[in-house]
Amino acid sequence: MARISLDHLRHAYGPKGLANPVYALKEVHHDFDDGGAYALLGPSGCGKTTLLNIISGLLQPSEGRILFGETDVTNLPTEARNIAQVFQFPVVYDTMTVYDNLAFPLRNRQVPEAEIENRVRGILKMIDLESWARRKARGLTADQKQKISLGRGLVRSDVNAILFDEPLTVIDPHMKWVLRTQLKQLHRQFGFTMVYVTHDQTEALTFADKVVVMYDGQIVQIGTPAELFDRPRHTFVGYFIGSPGMNVMAAGIDGAEAIIGGSRVALPGRPVIPGAAKTELGIRPEFLSLSREGLPVTIRKVEDIGRQKIVRAAFADQPISLVLREDQEIPADAKLRFDPAAIHIYADSWRVDYA
Ligand code: ATP
Repeated sequence: MARISLDHLRHAYGPKGLANPVYALKEVHHDFDDGGAYALLGPSGCGKTTLLNIISGLLQPSEGRILFGETDVTNLPTEARNIAQVFQFPVVYDTMTVYDNLAFPLRNRQVPEAEIENRVRGILKMIDLESWARRKARGLTADQKQKISLGRGLVRSDVNAILFDEPLTVIDPHMKWVLRTQLKQLHRQFGFTMVYVTHDQTEALTFADKVVVMYDGQIVQIGTPAELFDRPRHTFVGYFIGSPGMNVMAAGIDGAEAIIGGSRVALPGRPVIPGAAKTELGIRPEFLSLSREGLPVTIRKVEDIGRQKIVRAAFADQPISLVLREDQEIPADAKLRFDPAAIHIYADSWRVDYA
């Protein structure tokens, strides 16, 4: 396995040399550590597939380099990069048995049959297709075929990295959960470098050590699930991670206070605002509360979702959400309270520090 270095990558589709190219990837400069499990997470069109295709060699970046360990692979084709890939839809040899489909990449590399048997049996167990080993792949369901594709991606132990592009899309929800957990265990056991594209935050958060949040052709934050939740670097991360996402409100800043409409909210310090930036206050719905004392708020709707209540409200004409415990009472003339320690201030969408 290898560290993957993305060295000042940029990519614009279309002919080279255009006067004003539109960059699908704006500037990506980062290392994926050897043995790390990374999820690339972001909305449709943010550049996840573009980045994955550059790593796999399906696409040549317009600018920048890509290295596996110390080796510059920017100009190497996919076959020469020694990677395994699992795509969104199954890639299966219909005329081969399930067993042979899995053994194929190993036979290609002259791995001894005894070792092949050992590895293929292990994978068949994981994907729950042991009793199908001798059956031709042709008759299988899409779900089962995708499990074979997944298994084939995992069967080799000598690859630089394993790349996954939304591999669980066609798998039914329960099996999805099972495979995700098993993938995580396999990763712990074998420590392969894996890059996993998804737009599903649950998938990303349960399986990855590090989640790479992409937005508008950029990596806006790389962090553990806890870091993304507690300290979103960009308003998009706050909004995208969590359900409901972070509340982001237009706010003026006056010393160690934020001014929202006619209300003043105490901050944990004086935020350092560069120049004439647009300032916003971000706070997760879990850190707002309702009580008899506080700032004026209008409750619009209360949704009971089992152990929690989601309250939709308006504060200074801006929509906000609160997450309350199920047993928390909402006073008749409820006022809004902020947990100051959980307030983040953003300047032009990026989080700033307190002085
Ligand atoms: P999705 O989750 O929908 O697959 P994504 O995050 O993987 O989205 P990309 O497919 O990498 O995003 O696309 C990034 C941007 O590049 C988008 O604006 C898309 O329209 C554009 N794009 C992607 N492929 C091409 C192409 N072959 N030619 C021109 N533009 C493209």
